[in-house]
Amino acid sequence: MKRMTFEEKVGQMCQWVGLEHMATTERVLSKEELRNNSARSFYPGITVEDVKQMVIDGKIGSFLHVLTPAEANYLQSIAQKSRLQIPLLIGIDAVHGNAQVCGATVYPTAIGQAATFDTELVEKISVETAVEMRATGSQWNFSPNIEVARDPRWGRVGETFGEDPYLVSAMGKAAITGYQGSLNNRDSNVVACAKHFIGGSQPVNGTNGAPADLSERTLREIFFPPFEAAVKSGALTFMMAHNEVNGIPCHSNEWLMQEVLKKEWQFKGFIVSDWMDIEHLYDLHHTAIDNKEAFCQAVNAGIDMHMHGPQFYEDILNLVKDKKISKNRVEEACRKILEIKFICGLFDNPYINEKHADSVLFNEKHRATALEAARKSVTLLTNNGILPLSGKKYHRIFVTGPNADSHTILGDWTQMQPEKNVVTILEGLKEIAPDINFTYFDVGWKIKEMTQDKVDKAAMMARGADLSIIVVGEHQLRYNWNEKTCGEDCDRSDIGLPGLQQQLVEKIIKQGVPTVVILVNGRQSGIKWIAENADALVEAWEPGSFGGKAVAEILFGLVNPSGKLPVTIPEHVGQIQMVYNYKPSMYFHPYVIGSSSPLFCFGYGLSYSEYQFSDFTTYKDTLTKGEELKVSVSVTNNGQMDGEEVVQLYIRDIYSSVTRPVKELKHFERISLSSGETKQVKISIPYENLGFYDKNMKWIVEPGDFEIFVGSSSRDEDLIKKIVHVQ
Ligand code: BGC
Repeated sequence: MKRMTFEEKVGQMCQWVGLEHMATTERVLSKEELRNNSARSFYPGITVEDVKQMVIDGKIGSFLHVLTPAEANYLQSIAQKSRLQIPLLIGIDAVHGNAQVCGATVYPTAIGQAATFDTELVEKISVETAVEMRATGSQWNFSPNIEVARDPRWGRVGETFGEDPYLVSAMGKAAITGYQGSLNNRDSNVVACAKHFIGGSQPVNGTNGAPADLSERTLREIFFPPFEAAVKSGALTFMMAHNEVNGIPCHSNEWLMQEVLKKEWQFKGFIVSDWMDIEHLYDLHHTAIDNKEAFCQAVNAGIDMHMHGPQFYEDILNLVKDKKISKNRVEEACRKILEIKFICGLFDNPYINEKHADSVLFNEKHRATALEAARKSVTLLTNNGILPLSGKKYHRIFVTGPNADSHTILGDWTQMQPEKNVVTILEGLKEIAPDINFTYFDVGWKIKEMTQDKVDKAAMMARGADLSIIVVGEHQLRYNWNEKTCGEDCDRSDIGLPGLQQQLVEKIIKQGVPTVVILVNGRQSGIKWIAENADALVEAWEPGSFGGKAVAEILFGLVNPSGKLPVTIPEHVGQIQMVYNYKPSMYFHPYVIGSSSPLFCFGYGLSYSEYQFSDFTTYKDTLTKGEELKVSVSVTNNGQMDGEEVVQLYIRDIYSSVTRPVKELKHFERISLSSGETKQVKISIPYENLGFYDKNMKWIVEPGDFEIFVGSSSRDEDLIKKIVHVQ
């Protein structure tokens, strides 16, 4: 840093979008359009040549969305022409595999990963993602998204690990550990970014970026825990959220960045802004009178790097000149950014071997993990005995639905992937059951444009079959931005199946043909009628490259389903907010018309086996400070198939000085059990984990009786209970 000019230090705080993005736009737009079109060119009036020159001039420290090894090397080679040859930090959203890159392994999205309740698997996925990122020249992952999803209208639920702070914290920790590893392996460690801090997952109206109005208690009880755990796990960067919280936009929120993140949690890394969100202090939130004031507020509040675009560099220099921002603030930001570049090994060698990517991306090991994850994430919601299909007399199977033969199984944050790398559900069925005569009717993948004649024809065709399989849900591929119904910026005022899909399912079921419905979606859908009328209902989430194969294996009984819901599924939109860990008065006066119960509870998911929980022991009736709550429970697989079950432990503090949720998840564990096998599961919960924030927002464990529940879901009938007295 001693060798750097002040201008070069500001340059480190500046990020730009990859040149290929710009070049593509330059190829298709006229000179006039390039000057004026901010949406497509990203930077009106600025050309690729201009950005290259800025790199040489030391005015850019980082790029995002660099999609090929060649481009990454090319950018680094330009940086090597700058005075001090400081390498570039390259960031990307590799949020479920390095899926923005063509040819990468695409794992289930976070909501499906959470449904596995398998932290080791999430860590493995994250290690492999990091390896594929490094092979394509990125060192910084804008992941994990550890927001706690509390509203299914919000399109980004699929990017999260669900509705529970404990589950999200555990999954977030696994992801960060997987991405960062020991941080000294240039081939397999990348920098993680905990995002988005905070509250965007409970927007007041369900839409992305809308205000969040959350008490400090709610923030600390529900939304902060995963982020605090991320700091403890060593996450080196944080990204702020689009939204305001309680009237203060996150991007200018000193309390969040200075007090909570840096002072309380001792975060030592750097904070990046989200896409154009500093500018939004001016043009959206109206808390700054222009971009310059917005930059001033954001940097003073704690933002270290600007994602992305012009004017920031010049304005920061002027703001420092005018003494609105201190030199120290810039020094601090620059030091942390450089430190991370050193940690990544960029100063040793900024280049990658371009040929390496071919052998790394989508390799055998990664493919196997993607398949394993898909198998474990698929969640069976209803089954009247029709599944598994093997050995039954269904020879002519009719398959339809917009997601039956679609790449939307890959989820959001995916670029177009080669056909040969993706097994759609239809392809999976044909591969797994080659002897069955599948008839497929294509209703079109564009959910919003489904037509009545297609629905009618599908229903007619179903009549001749022994069984129908209908694959419905949402469309989340961002390269079909206008067709998306789910994912980033795709929020909905209704959670029913979009388009004519509900009608499609109803018409087919009414033909009297046995019907299995499969959902491909990144959030909860309103599926009450289907749950009550289909013979089986399968929630496949966004299961990734091998999603179709995993679904087919489950339908035909080659794999025993074992996914569990990481979110509550409400019956309909009017019940929102509906979560399992609600406060005791939530349903004091139930809805007078309409149900107050969820359709499916958090933690729920069926298997082809029956698991019996027995011999629940808490060892001690009374627990004193310093002790651990030790329990054990036996789980028996009474079914014919080997399988896996997720053992879940919840607590309830029965009487407390502050209201407490009716249930709180405190432990989970995925175990495998052969048919007939019994395993004893021993669980220890630290005493402190029984606590809560008291009236003065101090963490305490309050004496009294606690209910301890153990079982296969958060649903009362799936739990056995004991009472322990805590001193
Ligand atoms: C999203 C972030 C993402 C960024 C860069 C934004 O629109 O909110 O999650 O990391 O874009 O792609």
